[in-house]
Amino acid sequence: MSEKTGDVVIGIDLGTTNSLAAIVGKDGPRILTREDGAALIPSVVSFLDDGGHLVGEEARARSVTHPRSTVHSVKRLMGQHLEEVRRREGDRLGYEVVATEDSELARVRIGDKLYTPQEISALVLREVKRVAEQALGHEVEQAVITVPAYFDDSQRQATRDAARIAGLQALRIVNEPTAAALAYGLDTSREGTVVVYDLGGGTFDVSVLKITQGVYKVAATAGDTHLGGDDFDHEIMDRILHAVRDHVSATATIPVEALQQIRLSAEGLKRQLSERQDAHLEIDLGLDEPIAFRITRQEFEAAVRPRLDETLACCRAALKDAGVTPDQVDEVVLVGGSTRIPLVRALVEEMFGRTPHTELDPDRVVALGAAIQADVLSGGNKDLLLLDVIPLSLGIETVGGAFAKLVTRNSTVPARATEMFSTSVDDQTSIEINVFQGERELVRDCRPLGAFKLRGLPGMPAGLPRVEVTFLVDADGVLTVKAREQRSELEASIDVVPSHGLTRDEVKDIIRDSIKEARSDFAARELIELRNKAHNLATGTRRVLAMPEMPFTDAQRKDIEDDLARLDTLSKGEDVAALREACDAFGDKTQALADQAIGEAIKAELNREQSRLPS
Ligand code: AMP
Repeated sequence: MSEKTGDVVIGIDLGTTNSLAAIVGKDGPRILTREDGAALIPSVVSFLDDGGHLVGEEARARSVTHPRSTVHSVKRLMGQHLEEVRRREGDRLGYEVVATEDSELARVRIGDKLYTPQEISALVLREVKRVAEQALGHEVEQAVITVPAYFDDSQRQATRDAARIAGLQALRIVNEPTAAALAYGLDTSREGTVVVYDLGGGTFDVSVLKITQGVYKVAATAGDTHLGGDDFDHEIMDRILHAVRDHVSATATIPVEALQQIRLSAEGLKRQLSERQDAHLEIDLGLDEPIAFRITRQEFEAAVRPRLDETLACCRAALKDAGVTPDQVDEVVLVGGSTRIPLVRALVEEMFGRTPHTELDPDRVVALGAAIQADVLSGGNKDLLLLDVIPLSLGIETVGGAFAKLVTRNSTVPARATEMFSTSVDDQTSIEINVFQGERELVRDCRPLGAFKLRGLPGMPAGLPRVEVTFLVDADGVLTVKAREQRSELEASIDVVPSHGLTRDEVKDIIRDSIKEARSDFAARELIELRNKAHNLATGTRRVLAMPEMPFTDAQRKDIEDDLARLDTLSKGEDVAALREACDAFGDKTQALADQAIGEAIKAELNREQSRLPS
């Protein structure tokens, strides 16, 4: 691929803290840098009083002086409910996050203006686009953008929307760990398991990838959205403050500006400790003499060890989820600035029994991998194919509130599934398809994703319409649901853009609940299914009884009516076993009647056992 063409595709790492772009050129992948050589663009937007705004380094510089009008970490808000953001972030963000009357989704309020997270992300992306265009000398309109592996449909959709607002077409949304593995060119012709350990400034993620013939599959993820370099800075900061208070007074209040200075100094010391055994600092607070502070690598390591142990526990959990042991891992890749800390490298090496890949700059590997995928999409490299998995099962509501899963959790995308359904009531002229996501048996315990109606059906007896429902999940994890009634050829569909996102922890909770509640869920579902069965048996039988040609004696009719009445009573109760027995017995009896007296069409009427959709 030539870099001179107008239809280049760039790779973008849209990070919580920093963003950057890369491209595959004649000499391989490279980062696109700013005029001054800087590669990392802080993902920060600062709004000015005159209505303008700053993005990047200039914006970050204002985060101390103008915290209320400077937006950082907006990635934590993408596609999220206000409630979720409040619960997870507390008042950590510094700027105001609100919801509007017509939507529960989180927005940012600056003065009297509201911004969606997508709009703010778009401002960051526009700056990335500008840097890329200036570096390449021509316009850029297409990109591959990375997101965390645990991002759900709505968070991916929000990322896509941000790109569109910024004037970029997101050709593909790729998982960050997958991009990191790609950057290392981990041999895609082989089978293998790769662990990506990503420790940044504010978040920790670990992903287990399985590679099979060029296909990357995220087998498991784990992590902590509030664990990273900032915590390590705080450890050093606390020790500096201790030293200051020892010098001044135990209760001295330290001015905000001084605190900020101390935080920056702490980060500087931390970075030095990645190279040296000790680091020191003189703090000038305008007293007689500056205060001297010294910290050794050993002290630093002891201070951060508990948090690093937490990351190892996450690694173990992810391995367990993926069903692999540490010695089955073929490669380990380190991502994120905090993996420069020697203790991190040593602990990861110890855990997996192999030296992790650190050859590439841990701040750049995701962008480089995104560029490689961009190159694939623009036709430069035809040997790679990327696939990921969907985190939660997808399906529709059937009569009685049962959840029929069409695409199960962990299916590889793109995925497609088709199932036949029918109606539960005679003469239905419209059918509502309610789409849900989750692992439980009843839709009331799952997340609604959307609903649509198939209208204008010619009235038909219950069970007669044949409704083919198709789920299609594209390569980015976006879902399209289509329903088609085969007799009338009526068709309707929706693209599902869920109303709010899920965090990885919530996905975990959903899966855990589904295991915990499995017994009662199955019982509840069986009751619903038996009630449906009883209803279908009764409808079919009544229809047959009404047929004039049926040679039933009055005694036979009365016997059947009695059975139907009993089925009706049992259906209203909760006794699963009794209802099951009654259904089976009645099914056998009607079958015998059908065999004895009637033709195939009537048999079919009695045997119609399709899942029914709610009316
Ligand atoms: P990221 O979010 O991936 O950009 O990572 C940023 C984090 O990496 C910040 O907390 C930095 O302080 C930290 N970091 C960058 N360089 C080093 C280093 N040499 N040693 C320790 N931490 C570092």
